[in-house]
Amino acid sequence: MSDWREKVKKVVPYIPGEQPQIKNIIKLNTNENPYPPSPKVFEVLESADASAFRKYPDPDSKELVGALSEVYGVDEKRIFVGVGSDDVLGMAFQTFFNSDLPVLFPDITYSFYDVWCDLYGIKYDIKPLNPDFTINPEDYKGENGGVVIANPNAPTSLAMGIDKIEEIIKANSDSVVIIDEAYVDFGGESALPLLDKYENLLIVRTFSKSRSLAGMRIGFAFGSEEMISYLNAVKNSYNSYTMNMLSIKCGKAALLDREYFKNTVETIIATRDKYAEVLKGMGFEMPKSSSNFYFAKHKTVDAGIIFEELKKRNIFVRHWNKPVIKDYLRITVGTDKEMEALCSALSEILKEQA
Ligand code: PMP
Repeated sequence: MSDWREKVKKVVPYIPGEQPQIKNIIKLNTNENPYPPSPKVFEVLESADASAFRKYPDPDSKELVGALSEVYGVDEKRIFVGVGSDDVLGMAFQTFFNSDLPVLFPDITYSFYDVWCDLYGIKYDIKPLNPDFTINPEDYKGENGGVVIANPNAPTSLAMGIDKIEEIIKANSDSVVIIDEAYVDFGGESALPLLDKYENLLIVRTFSKSRSLAGMRIGFAFGSEEMISYLNAVKNSYNSYTMNMLSIKCGKAALLDREYFKNTVETIIATRDKYAEVLKGMGFEMPKSSSNFYFAKHKTVDAGIIFEELKKRNIFVRHWNKPVIKDYLRITVGTDKEMEALCSALSEILKEQA
């Protein structure tokens, strides 16, 4: 007998980090920014006029695209915006990865990539990282249906130099190379200078990390005019109004406050570098982070135990019980005060477990 369940698309979804609804927690598990967005975003919200909401928003998000163009010096026709970079990436997978050849990405990387491949029926081939967690460009030079590299990579926190990124883009003129730069503002080298040189390059960015707007859901991409037109065609075949009125306005306000952006990013980098040393002094080992998080392993105490013990103390970090990375914790860089609290909880836990 036929059953409607046979007609269901069954997928294993991506599991985001917890968003606990309890108060007074220290939340270092989803790489959010510990600081509020620019005061200019508050001004937008204070002066927002709800009567405007009866109309649809601008399907082209011109105000936001215009501000991105101004800030990054990229022509408006080469900019695509979406509901967080997840939306932009998902749309890009659908648009550009239509081949019988597999899409290539590292085994340890953003764990949404394989989920989109499964959702859209895209073949993929994962390439192991080097033992020190770096990416080997040679692995991405064979025949493929596309390449995706997060730079800096997550959860490893490591950045790849633009020379190596260029090698990968150059070797793949027959497929689209997506560089996911979600964390690039914290110390990575952007592929932006390569944009005019390669028509197969798509750079994806987000407002969720360095611009403190994870809750607003704003992402964007830079590519060739032709590439962006294909992305827009797919978007407009799915949902014309992905960006709501407030996201457009808040995104623009955050972008144009360059001073605030620079200050917050610099503060996070200073905190990151300061507490990397403290954590190392406590017996943690980690690659040098170019992101707003650490990928840290303790010399003697099991990562799973530390994760649970921190949680008992209302401190949330991220742990994956997966081969290769099960000994590691991904810890978002918070404020200095949050990092102090983390370190004192850790020293208590390490003493108990000694
Ligand atoms: N890429 C990477 C590497 C990420 O870690 C994240 C955050 N989970 C994203 C993309 C998506 O971020 P958002 O959708 O908030 O822009």
